[in-house]
Amino acid sequence: MPDPTALLHSVFGFPGFRPGQQEIVEAVLAGRNTLAIMPTGGGKSLCYQLPALCRAGVTVVISPLIALMRDQVRALREAGVEAGALTSGNTDEETEGVFQALDDGRLKLLYMAPERLSAGGTAVLLRRIGVSLIAVDEAHCVSQWGHDFRPDYLKIGELRRALGVPLAAFTATADAETRAEIVTRLFDGAAPATFLRGFDRPNIHLAFGVKDQPRRQILDFAIARRGQSGIVYCATRSKTEGLAQALREAGLPAIHYHGGMEADDRRLAETRFQQEDGLIVAATVAFGMGIDKPDIRWVAHADLPKSIEAYYQEIGRAGRDGAPAETLTLYGPEDIRLRRTQIDEGLAPPDRKAADHARLNALLGLAEAVGCRRQVLLGYFGETSAPCGACDLCDAPPETFDATEAVRKALSAALRTGESFGAGHLIDILTGQPTDKIRQRGHDALPTFGVGRDLTKPVWQAVFRQMMGRDLMRPDPERHGALRMTDAARPILRGEATIHLRRDTVQAKARPVVKTLVAEEDAPLLSALKAKRRALAEAQRVPAYVIFPDRTLIEMAERRPETLDQMAQITGIGAKKLESYGATFLAVITGAPPDALHPARRRLAGRAEGTLYDRLLAVQADLLRGADGTEKPLTCSAALLARVAELRPRDLDALGRILGERRAERFGSAFLAALDDG
Ligand code: ADP
Ligand code: ZN
Repeated sequence: MPDPTALLHSVFGFPGFRPGQQEIVEAVLAGRNTLAIMPTGGGKSLCYQLPALCRAGVTVVISPLIALMRDQVRALREAGVEAGALTSGNTDEETEGVFQALDDGRLKLLYMAPERLSAGGTAVLLRRIGVSLIAVDEAHCVSQWGHDFRPDYLKIGELRRALGVPLAAFTATADAETRAEIVTRLFDGAAPATFLRGFDRPNIHLAFGVKDQPRRQILDFAIARRGQSGIVYCATRSKTEGLAQALREAGLPAIHYHGGMEADDRRLAETRFQQEDGLIVAATVAFGMGIDKPDIRWVAHADLPKSIEAYYQEIGRAGRDGAPAETLTLYGPEDIRLRRTQIDEGLAPPDRKAADHARLNALLGLAEAVGCRRQVLLGYFGETSAPCGACDLCDAPPETFDATEAVRKALSAALRTGESFGAGHLIDILTGQPTDKIRQRGHDALPTFGVGRDLTKPVWQAVFRQMMGRDLMRPDPERHGALRMTDAARPILRGEATIHLRRDTVQAKARPVVKTLVAEEDAPLLSALKAKRRALAEAQRVPAYVIFPDRTLIEMAERRPETLDQMAQITGIGAKKLESYGATFLAVITGAPPDALHPARRRLAGRAEGTLYDRLLAVQADLLRGADGTEKPLTCSAALLARVAELRPRDLDALGRILGERRAERFGSAFLAALDDG
């Protein structure tokens, strides 16, 4: 069986496994039933692609989205892997090609849409072609209670039984219910080898911002990242359209996307986003499932997501290629009110509503965190970590103050007015503003009137927002605009607990700093490399990342390889890609035309044999006219030298069989010495 680590280098061009991949690959290789839960971008595909290449027979991959399947197959072919797809999107020619490859016994990976499982004859076909492994992508689609339920996924268990081969299931959805359902439906309840991989996505920078001038804040964020692909999630359909328009007016390429658009328009938007480099989409949460773009460089939330799970999933779409990615989530008191109201007015039973409030609370706790955000986020998922150094609070620790007194005053203002008013009116009472409303209701006679004059109105706003964020006060579902105290606030009111809050987090606006993916001196080269990639991608009508992901171009721009051998060391460049694109990109870096390396030598680039070849070439030059420099010139062809380097004959006889008598006589012992050194 081929060694998976060797194929990881030579086919995929990766220097090593990502955390968790190796154990999964080993389990799948060993033929065990496997369930792997890994975050988006964790590198799940590799966990079945690599075993597929090592194992005998065909691996059938079941994946829910046809467009993504096609991109995956293209990307695999680019890496020199025999892969094909059988989907309703195929041309006859493509289908023909797949069957031809199957008949020749060449095909290693067969992607299949779940619909196909219902078609008659599929099990027979799969048995005939010698399927030895079933891989199921997005395995949570088998869960009837999830948003992504695909009835055809229910057929997978049956297929596994019919074929009697191991099954490897992959998903990013980690909750216990979904997991249990996957085990029941795909594995007949027999627990597979299960791998739950960390939730951390260390390359994603986390940041929250209090809404101040929300549109301006989003525009500044996007403008500072000009040229980078990003998603702006918005709470409403109309906002997606307005923001996309504003982004275009700011000179950025942007489109909108929401569930109210015609199916064709949605598909067009998805395709454009997938294929175009640097496009921004302003979207509702309807946008996502159909997207598998590894080089999304940023995700912004123009409005607060609905729960911590939703937040995690949405930001997780950024930076799947492992290169740095950034996020910004805006929120304000209105967002909190909106999300609470949505839960309260929803149709869910009471215990479910309570759970939804708790999940919203977890997100608000993250928004109002006073320490490292990643610690809070991972803590929610049951993981511990050190301060990350890649969130806004690690970048600039917030200033906090003892707000116990302030919170008690605020609670008392609410209680003394029958919990019937919103933050605005309560702040007027606290700061002693004799407004008409205050006078009419006699609130200027309350003992709390004016007790909060020591703090300014913006500070009070921050206090109220944080109180809502910590669920000390909630909007009253019955009375619009009114805030009620929650049980969580009682200990503070009774003087049994203290509380520290952040000083206002609305910061004086700094000019947006332009964020680049590489140091300033490497930026022009990166643009040139991207332009080359775009040209190649457009010519082949594939998304840019199918040629090379951002990460690979960034590494090229920083390390500036000067030879194909150095090029082969870059992450993401396997043997096939080196052959297809190495020289072209090298020419962009060195500014010279692609060098006239002999094809026989180019094939050895990045391997020990390449170095050996160069040594043989030098030895040969020394002996061109024999050891004493008086004989007739004699050389070996490049192909001959390459064969010597690859076969590494151990003695003169073996060498003679490759070189022939005359050449063996001239170069034999010198070549053997060179081979010995290597
Ligand atoms: P998932 O399906 O888990 O969301 P993918 O399988 O799409 O993630 O992988 C995300 C990205 O990470 C892809 O661009 C892939 O090429 C890259 N990747 C996967 N494994 C490795 C690795 N060991 N080293 C470097 N990059 C990797
Ligand atoms: Zn941090």
